[in-house]
Amino acid sequence: EDTVARIAAGEVVERPASAVKELVENSLDAGASSVDVTIESGGTELIRVADDGRGMAEADLRAAVRQHTTSKIEGLEDLESGVATLGFRGEALHTIGSVSKLNIRSRPRDADGAGTELVYEGGDVVSVEPTGCPAGTTVEVEDLFYNTPARRKFLKTTATEFAHVNRVVTRYALANPDVAVSLTHDGREVFSTTGQGDLQAAVLSVYGREVAAAMIPVEADGDELPVGPLESVTGLVSHPETNRSSREYLATYVNGRAVTADAVREGIMGAYGTQLGGDRYPFVVLFLDVPGDAVDVNVHPRKREVRFDDDDAVRRQVDAAVERALLEHGL
Ligand code: ADP
Ligand code: MG
Repeated sequence: EDTVARIAAGEVVERPASAVKELVENSLDAGASSVDVTIESGGTELIRVADDGRGMAEADLRAAVRQHTTSKIEGLEDLESGVATLGFRGEALHTIGSVSKLNIRSRPRDADGAGTELVYEGGDVVSVEPTGCPAGTTVEVEDLFYNTPARRKFLKTTATEFAHVNRVVTRYALANPDVAVSLTHDGREVFSTTGQGDLQAAVLSVYGREVAAAMIPVEADGDELPVGPLESVTGLVSHPETNRSSREYLATYVNGRAVTADAVREGIMGAYGTQLGGDRYPFVVLFLDVPGDAVDVNVHPRKREVRFDDDDAVRRQVDAAVERALLEHGL
């Protein structure tokens, strides 16, 4: 693997959280009903994502780490969602593997007997051997950026890298209440969802009792809102008294993808008006449905920031949906 490829990988895999995002997405794509994320030192020393998804046979596993291989069709659905899954379709494993030491153990759900363990280091397959392992896939990423010291130097403190990973895993846990998602950092469980409940149950698992008890449902169809592209706005927002001084707890999704958008944030904040103190933010888990052609994903694909063709209309629609929910609770 040459230097250029490694530098390119560093551009795509910015930090541990970017690798975690790709691995969790793969697990969900594989139909997992549980996804366990374990990291050490903010993910710089170890990222392990274990799932009970469909798994891979040896040939699939070998193919999975090759460049430009994907078993997923880049279909109409992706285009229509307006928010593509990846900036680098079919290259996540290859790319992560070129800047780390990768170990993948996998066994197809429907195959009994041994699974396969593949060891990949700095872009080369080191070994492929049979191994005993549960059905599903476990990917371990060790020593991220060990061969790109310049990139490694840009990593922040363990606390900061952990916060980024936590945000990513939290976003997926909240959007998939039917999947049991857990996060463990340096041997300590940060949260785990049951995979049995609804959004409210996921919020309880992730944020705890106080926040869960403060949540107010939002449920608005486009035709109940001011004119604009949104077809629906659903989710949960917190009572204004339950707030934090960080935007981190604004979990917003467009067509199922975790994204941030100025118009959405401004709409939410507008609905709360002066009920929040300066620089305070509510807890929000909000899902927006919108025709794909109304979203512009090219603002900052990696940061998952989107803009809408008509940002003003979206702002008014989100404001109205949240305001109505608060009003129904006498707020
Ligand atoms: P993409 O997700 O865009 O297809 P990746 O590099 O992330 O590209 O993965 C390559 C391929 O490896 C996937 O298409 C899939 O077939 C397989 N794969 C990766 N992770 C898993 C997993 N956790 N379970 C089952 N198959 C996986
Ligand atoms: Mg992928």
